Amino acid sequence: MTAKLLRLIAASLLLSIALPSWAQDEKNGAEDKKEEEKPKSIAELTKDSEAFEGLFTLYRDTKTGKTHLLISEDQLGKEYIYWMQVANGVLDAGYFKGAYGPSGIIELRRNFNTVEIWKKNTNFWFDPDNPLSRASSANITDALVAVLEISGEDKDGGRVLTDADKLFASEALVQVTPSPNPNPEAAKEPSFSLGKLDEKKTRILNLRSYPQNTDVEVEYVFNNPTPVVQGSQAVTDSRYISVRMMHSFIEVPKNDFVPRRDDPRVGFFSGQVTDLTSNAAAPFRDHVNRWHLVKKDPSAAMSEPVEPITWWIENTTPLEWRDLIRDAALDWNRSFEKIGFKDAIVVKVQPDDADWDAGDIRYNVLRWTSSPNPPFGGYGPSFTNPRTGQIIGADIMLEYSFMGRFLRSRGKLQDPTAGQDLALWSAFEPEMGGHYCSLGAGLQANTMFARAAADSLYGLDDELDQRLVHDTMHYLILHEMGHTLGMNHNMKATQLLTPDEAFSTDNLADGLLAGSIMDYPAVNFAPTREQQGLYYSVVPGPYDDWFVEYGYSQALDDPAAEEQRLEAILARSTEPQLAFGNDADDMRSPGAGIDPRVNIYDMSSDSIGYASQQMTLFQDALDRLPENYPAQGKSYQETVEAVTVMLALWGRSAAVTSRWIGGVYVDRAMVGQPGASAPFRPVSRARQQNAMQVLAEQVFAPGAIHISPELLQHTAPRRRGFNHFGQTEDPKIHDAVLNIQKGVLDHLLNPVVMKRITDSGAYGNTYSLADMMGDLTGAIFNADARGDIDSFRQNLQVEYVQRLAKMARGNGGQHTATSAAVFELEQVADLLDGRRGGDRSTQAHVAHLEMIIDRALSADV
Ligand SMILES: [Zn+2]
Repeated sequence: MTAKLLRLIAASLLLSIALPSWAQDEKNGAEDKKEEEKPKSIAELTKDSEAFEGLFTLYRDTKTGKTHLLISEDQLGKEYIYWMQVANGVLDAGYFKGAYGPSGIIELRRNFNTVEIWKKNTNFWFDPDNPLSRASSANITDALVAVLEISGEDKDGGRVLTDADKLFASEALVQVTPSPNPNPEAAKEPSFSLGKLDEKKTRILNLRSYPQNTDVEVEYVFNNPTPVVQGSQAVTDSRYISVRMMHSFIEVPKNDFVPRRDDPRVGFFSGQVTDLTSNAAAPFRDHVNRWHLVKKDPSAAMSEPVEPITWWIENTTPLEWRDLIRDAALDWNRSFEKIGFKDAIVVKVQPDDADWDAGDIRYNVLRWTSSPNPPFGGYGPSFTNPRTGQIIGADIMLEYSFMGRFLRSRGKLQDPTAGQDLALWSAFEPEMGGHYCSLGAGLQANTMFARAAADSLYGLDDELDQRLVHDTMHYLILHEMGHTLGMNHNMKATQLLTPDEAFSTDNLADGLLAGSIMDYPAVNFAPTREQQGLYYSVVPGPYDDWFVEYGYSQALDDPAAEEQRLEAILARSTEPQLAFGNDADDMRSPGAGIDPRVNIYDMSSDSIGYASQQMTLFQDALDRLPENYPAQGKSYQETVEAVTVMLALWGRSAAVTSRWIGGVYVDRAMVGQPGASAPFRPVSRARQQNAMQVLAEQVFAPGAIHISPELLQHTAPRRRGFNHFGQTEDPKIHDAVLNIQKGVLDHLLNPVVMKRITDSGAYGNTYSLADMMGDLTGAIFNADARGDIDSFRQNLQVEYVQRLAKMARGNGGQHTATSAAVFELEQVADLLDGRRGGDRSTQAHVAHLEMIIDRALSADV
């Protein structure tokens, strides 16, 4: 059957559906006539077009702008990597410059007079020798993302021309319009909406084609004629929002790259592949993501790689930071030298007149932007061949704001919503998937605190300030580079040193404060000027060296010997300096994670003692702030920033401490591995009580978080236009303090945590739910059981009793938690019964509490 005949059949089939019979006859006649005319050749169709030759050749008509994609016969039935990145966006819309989409495998297939674009499923593996492999497509479907009409064809059938606008200037390859909020309650809240994609305005902007990749940049324009929420100042007109995306088709690398297996003991980004022909308990063939790094001279003890991992410092980078950035990036070579690579990482500077931009996927670029609402301070994504895990390219997005003194992305103490913002912050923000990194925002708050606290306590000198900038920049760059080497976060790494070792200038010698630079650490701010050593680790740690060894050391040819070699590296996982736990394990959010050693913004092997010491420092610094801060002639905006950031960090330290209560240590070692313990071991009673004691004294006690009247009189934001119109600019200090306390209650009274406290009683936990709740009630009520109750404690007590009342009405079927709540309400009622006296405000408060308790205990349940 000829192609011409097929086209005729297809055309008549299509028309028979779409048109009445009389029209069919007429149309068929016209079609026949047209077919008899000579079909246009590709050369004719593209004679007015500019050609972009490369992996795929694209044509753009110089008059109409219409784009065609040329596909040759040998490209059909072949796999390509498809990948998308955001070329520009606006945070209100959920898209930011440099954000990476996932990569996938696509295949082009001819079907009569069309070319189909299929996205393939790479999640499963079948042993080809197993007869089951003949059923390898059972219940696994590929996705047909687009069908492209062939508009021209070479006579010899070698090449076809298709309409590229339909493929790229549409949502065929990737969803751009956000899905509706799945939470029906949240969906009712007014939020920024893009409206609908405007197909007329959406268009292809730029075309690029190179031997190994073809890139198409598209501007997606959304239209919302009646926006409810106007969005931030970054939005020019909320009715028309543009998001630019770069679609890339990439050739699958042809090399001898051998996938390396993933393992739970070390934290790589990975591809998950399940062997459906295995009956093992864990039939995983997951591979780690890593670069193809091969020694030039495999027999040499030290050799340069055939192709180094080359980084470019973007020409937008502030000049004064470039040397620091280069030095920090090159510090990764220390880890590679330990496995025999010289100059594995190479750093260059993008010339100001470069003919490529940082969005070009052929270049790995350390990029700098200064965004109105920075979504991060740094972000280090990479893209891979999904079949093998080979990292093909990476970028690092850095935000200028992270060294600034202004919390651009956060609410202020004066905002009516400040309380919520502080609570959010102290409870730690969730991240968007594994690659997203909010380290920079955390570092910025740390830096602001360190500067204000040093100024307040002993006067920040230039030497210390330069060290702070140096350490912060090194940490950020090393950390984001780590992501691009395939590294997960390691939120367990700050367990390395004791608090004494952290607060010492001795650590300046080896540059290490933690096992890895992949943690989110508290800034290591020492109690005195003399004890001030490193603020952060400034070189890769022992875990990082070990990670690089596992991922990048040279493989042996014999598979059995290679497996033995890898296992020998992994068997070291029980060494304390190699401790690992990633975002899925960490305890930043109440109810998430179970091992309190795996946490963000903590520091040292005694993170309770360290957090306690930090809270003492926050209090000292706040007490002395009015004496030394800000400098003469400045507005009090800096005071607002300093108080806000110190309270936010107080919330973090309180949250870190709380996580030990109900905690369970996790060990991911394999059975029989030397140094291994049981996978689950509850935290000792003594340590849980220690955490409760610190919280009682430094978070809940009367006056535990104290800001002097003098300081409050000075937390005045600088006026800007009418910006506080409709709000008030006075400090909402009760909200701020209560939100720190709420952050702790959110953990202790979390249903998941309460269930675990009871469950872990069955395997070793001796700090029972009844013990914990009794201690908590004591911490919130005992200190002012007689006499007056101040306004901060009144807030806390009402908050606690309200939460108990809610739990007493049934706690999602958790009977032990309900019983505990009922019992504690009765205890509080008894205590209130015995009260005499107190000022008028205290009496009003007690009446309020009694009302809540009466209602809770008498309500029908
Ligand atoms: Zn990170």
